[in-house]
Amino acid sequence: MQKLKYLWLDGEILEWDNAKIHVMTHSLHYSISVFEAIRCHATELGPAIFRLDEHLVRFYQSAKIYNLKIPFDSKEIKDAIISLIELNEVENCYIRPIAFTAYGEMGLNPLKNKISVAVTLWEWGAYLGEEGKRKGVRCMVSSWVRIDSRSLPPQAKCSANYANSALAKMEAVTNGFDEAIMLNSHGFVAEGPGENIFRVKEGVLTTPPASSGILRGITRDTVMKFAQELGIPCYRNDFTREELYTSDELFFTGTAAGIVPIREVDGRKIGNGDYPITRKLQQMYDDAIHGRNEKYKHWLTYVKTIKTSL
Ligand code: PMP
Repeated sequence: MQKLKYLWLDGEILEWDNAKIHVMTHSLHYSISVFEAIRCHATELGPAIFRLDEHLVRFYQSAKIYNLKIPFDSKEIKDAIISLIELNEVENCYIRPIAFTAYGEMGLNPLKNKISVAVTLWEWGAYLGEEGKRKGVRCMVSSWVRIDSRSLPPQAKCSANYANSALAKMEAVTNGFDEAIMLNSHGFVAEGPGENIFRVKEGVLTTPPASSGILRGITRDTVMKFAQELGIPCYRNDFTREELYTSDELFFTGTAAGIVPIREVDGRKIGNGDYPITRKLQQMYDDAIHGRNEKYKHWLTYVKTIKTSL
């Protein structure tokens, strides 16, 4: 990660190197922090943040699930994000608001701790690589089972969930794969460590339902809306490991990753190596995030109106 000039901590803009927190910060020990992952892209009218309002709604919902009171309202976080993009003079960036239990009490009851909030951003390329987006990624089904809402609520974007994700990711990478696919405790496909998953079979899209132990992805929702526009049937239904292998197309969706074809699972090639529906959705997504489709401009929050180098 390449550092930028400024970040925001508890209401103040600070120079990047001046944001310091104590090693006894409660959330460092107990993982009680909720966060968001948002992207801003260059458009003809300057940098534009994709579906910012929806990301902020999810941020406050994650906090609510953990009973954390974020001491700033949504408008304050939105203003912090916009100021940071302007001050850091970036167009394409990844934005990370995080609310965490601060220094003070130790122990497992976080309700006594102050909640600190930080907003940072940095320039971050495609999470599974540009080549992954073009050629597709190779996956393995993880031996780690996805968390479920009886143990850790997957619909809260809480740091604790990412210990489960990181175990799956490490296992996949150590075994020579690009990414993991995680099953839930019922044996159905859930999601990737940081991405939702879709399958295409005979022209029909299916993605696991919210109840399968997934984060309700905003890119997932975007793809479902695109499918509606294209007249492609799209269902939120459980599917199994063998249905991964027999899919015509499979792809991941996520803010960090984008829309990424999956070309292989557990050594089985997916489809015939051609991904017409995935490609179409990738193109629509690319157009929407870069402000090239009038229909989806309401999803963009423009940071400032300038003519960019695009
Ligand atoms: N699942 C998990 C576990 C994730 O971390 C992410 C990334 N935020 C997603 C799915 C995709 O969500 P989104 O499309 O909102 O980025």
